[in-house]
Amino acid sequence: MMAGPVDYAYVENLREKLRQYNDAYYDKDAPLVDDYTYDQMLRELERLEAAHPEWADPESPTRIVGGRALSTFSKVSHEVRMESLQDVFSIEELRAFLTKTSADTPIEWVVEHKIDGLSVALEYRDGVFYRGATRGDGTTGEDVSANLLTMSSIPKRLAEDPPSRLIVRGEVFMSDRSFTSLNESQEELGQKLFANPRNAAAGSLRQLDPKVTSGRDLSLFCFNVQLVEGRKFATHLESLEFLAANGFPVIPVSDAVIDIEAVISAVEAIGAERGRLSYGIDGAVVKANSLAVRETLGSTSKFPRWAAAYKFSPEQQETRIRDIIVQVGRSGKITPLAVLEPVTVAGSTISRATLHNEDFIEEKDIRVGDSVIIQKAGDVIPEVVRVQTDKRPAEAVPYAMPQVCPACGSVVIRREGEAASYCTGANCPAQRLRRLIHFASRDCMNIEGLGPANLRVLVEKGYIQSLGDLYRLPEHASELERLPGWGKRSVTKLLEAVEGSKKNPLERVLTALGIPQIGTAAARVLAKAFPDIWALAEAEADMLQTLPDIGATSAQSIRAFFDSPDNLSVLREFAQFGVNLTSDTYGSGEAQEELPWSDLRFVVTGTLESMSREEAEAKIRSLGAAAQSQVSAKTSFVVVGAKAGSKATKAAALGIPTLDEAAFLDALQNPATLSAREI
Ligand code: NAD
Repeated sequence: MMAGPVDYAYVENLREKLRQYNDAYYDKDAPLVDDYTYDQMLRELERLEAAHPEWADPESPTRIVGGRALSTFSKVSHEVRMESLQDVFSIEELRAFLTKTSADTPIEWVVEHKIDGLSVALEYRDGVFYRGATRGDGTTGEDVSANLLTMSSIPKRLAEDPPSRLIVRGEVFMSDRSFTSLNESQEELGQKLFANPRNAAAGSLRQLDPKVTSGRDLSLFCFNVQLVEGRKFATHLESLEFLAANGFPVIPVSDAVIDIEAVISAVEAIGAERGRLSYGIDGAVVKANSLAVRETLGSTSKFPRWAAAYKFSPEQQETRIRDIIVQVGRSGKITPLAVLEPVTVAGSTISRATLHNEDFIEEKDIRVGDSVIIQKAGDVIPEVVRVQTDKRPAEAVPYAMPQVCPACGSVVIRREGEAASYCTGANCPAQRLRRLIHFASRDCMNIEGLGPANLRVLVEKGYIQSLGDLYRLPEHASELERLPGWGKRSVTKLLEAVEGSKKNPLERVLTALGIPQIGTAAARVLAKAFPDIWALAEAEADMLQTLPDIGATSAQSIRAFFDSPDNLSVLREFAQFGVNLTSDTYGSGEAQEELPWSDLRFVVTGTLESMSREEAEAKIRSLGAAAQSQVSAKTSFVVVGAKAGSKATKAAALGIPTLDEAAFLDALQNPATLSAREI
């Protein structure tokens, strides 16, 4: 795999490289090589270490779980080790693993999706979320409770009669769609792009500020009960049923099967549906169903002997670049795309691949007419891996980015220090079209029948210039019916959908407006905090920042949006057409009413040893209480850390009870005692 003679130095070099890759992947969430390359190198090291026991190293990447807890988070010792999985890369290897493991007694196997995300352990005490941690090196992980608590899919309390202690293991991940929209917004803001959904999920969860995490759309699948007290399960499937009944999102799992060929078919079926899933999987996991069998088989220093991960290899295909076109985004960003001769890769037909930007094209010297290898690996967006230069046609010339926007003719610029190019046209029809497509899309106003193709026709024929024009479409009903292929029925349905969208809740309108940084989660928060859009339009950036999910960048972005007279006039048009701009969730805390501290108000002051103030406030909010910045007569409790100043004095003056750190931690564990003790 690497050049040079195979000797001890070679093996050391291989280990060093893998350690370096681990560091970039686990600690910085920014891999230096793709997973396939990494896995091949690790395999080679395994082979060499097995063939030369004299070269062994107990600290080798083959023997330890990659990753470590960063000192920026508090450390958590895992009571039950968070193991990795042994990999198999072919069906023959999988068959060999199954045959060997079940040689003595037949084993019941289950097959699950192998989610490409970040492993976490969630602990519950007396049915209340207590703590959540990353895997780290399997023994010590990072306390990311505050960040996990921002995820709505994580139950904060369990159903009636919960076990006294429960530790659940799962994988935090980002759906393909959320990954794409996160990278779009990162790009619009000139921030770092994530290499793939796995790194985006890890980077989003391992944030010091929970507000950043809460703006990222993270999901979870649970796949194991690590520890349970006061309850026993005989099988894995039984434990998953218990998790599902307690509100945990549970990993898709097959039935239990003994026949090895049936296990293999289940693995192959996952491979076949892979391209159609809304989230990334990098394989299928085969596990023994019986917990007693698991106990008997035990583990190595790195992984259990009762499970294996069948890793899909990234499918690569050769095809030809027919053309290179550019796409103009909502913010004017120009992205070059390769138009390909269609090929099937990882279950889907690919006819376009992103070429990212001018530098990417130059670096790989990609030209129209070239034969290229494309890949859809961890990445959801297919990309060009390399050019087959030996097959290059004589007439192929280096590609040059357009100097002017192909849609509006405005000058294209590249800002200092950025790889992206932008169209400078204020009235660019392509930008307008992208904004309209976003507005009408499923996660936004969800206007059925108004997909990209129909919107393009409506914009080209001049029926729609601005967002407001969407609601003028009924005025053109009879003309629309005469458009080729449209007809009376489809126009009636379309106009009904447009009309219906006027009733959408405010949070959808806010998402649809495409305010940079404001996705579904932030829009929901804004709709709860303001009675209508006009109140939001008046809000100061400082005030916006006090909201649970809104950080400084989002607050500025909201202000910039409402400071634009053009945007305000669109909203006025919406109001005239009867688009709902009033919140029906204003002031509501539906989810919070059932929580133990929903009537309480807390102020945290001073420095806490075990967590940052943001983490403490997130924990407080997760139990339903408000976290305030100022002490007032209505404050229920003041949490007082070291070096507390005037807020502690004010609490004493107003006779408000205070909690020191130990009492606060105790209250977090037993929230019911606190409400009973006070108020
Ligand atoms: P792994 O990702 O191969 O498998 C173990 C992990 O799978 C577990 O930690 C668990 O979180 C997860 N998982 C997902 N679904 C699961 C399910 N249904 N049941 C059980 N576990 C499930 O191993 P790893 O140790 O986490 O990471 C090693 C892998 O990470 C490498 O094989 C490589 O692909 C990748 N990696 C890449 C680089 C790089 O530079 N590209 C560097 C280091 C690691």
